[in-house]
Amino acid sequence: MSRYTGPVCRLCRRETATSKTGEKIKLFLKGERCLSKKCAVERRGTAPGQKTQGKPSRQKISEYGRQLREKQKMRRYYGVIETQFENYFREAARVPGQTGKTFLQLLERRLDNVVYRMNLAASRAQARQLVTHRHFRVNGRLVNIPSYLLKAGDVITIGERSLKSPLLQSNLEIVTNRSHPEWLEWNDQDHAIKVATLPSREQIDTPVDEQLIVEYYSR
Ligand code: SF4
Repeated sequence: MSRYTGPVCRLCRRETATSKTGEKIKLFLKGERCLSKKCAVERRGTAPGQKTQGKPSRQKISEYGRQLREKQKMRRYYGVIETQFENYFREAARVPGQTGKTFLQLLERRLDNVVYRMNLAASRAQARQLVTHRHFRVNGRLVNIPSYLLKAGDVITIGERSLKSPLLQSNLEIVTNRSHPEWLEWNDQDHAIKVATLPSREQIDTPVDEQLIVEYYSR
């Protein structure tokens, strides 16, 4: 299955419209726009194609439907295609312990996610592009694979020439002004990210109920 290339705000609106609590769900797929009043979820919380403005759908959703929606929400949040997402789940299920937590940890450990979490990119899509454009090194070695899995102790640096890129330069100004997860450390002098530890569940703010996804794949 190929990557979704349609309008991404539709995906957020879909999740918000099917939320049981009527909560506004943002997947943060469009960088700065997501924090502004232009955000489609802020302007209208209806599902794509739904005419009633401002009201969540009254349609009853089955248990399977809830599991499916939660799975779609998490997959879109991390911008991962279906097959890859399923592979992460299979890998997590092989590890002893809580499958849901390991599953989330695997997604958090992706190089594109770490670049985004450290505010070096405005969205995961931009982070993926920066990685494929060969801007980052892991432990001194060039890595251009967005799904590269980092481990505790790994150090991500920006290539010498990449530091001159206007996009990275403006993103670097943001890094010091915004907060980042505790499991990542920023070295301002070397422009380096260190994965201090692997994240605990409490340190991952992804708005999903991973147990529903475990149940979805365990059917
Ligand atoms: Fe979602 Fe961002 Fe679009 Fe808002 S602007 S609907 S958070 S992708």
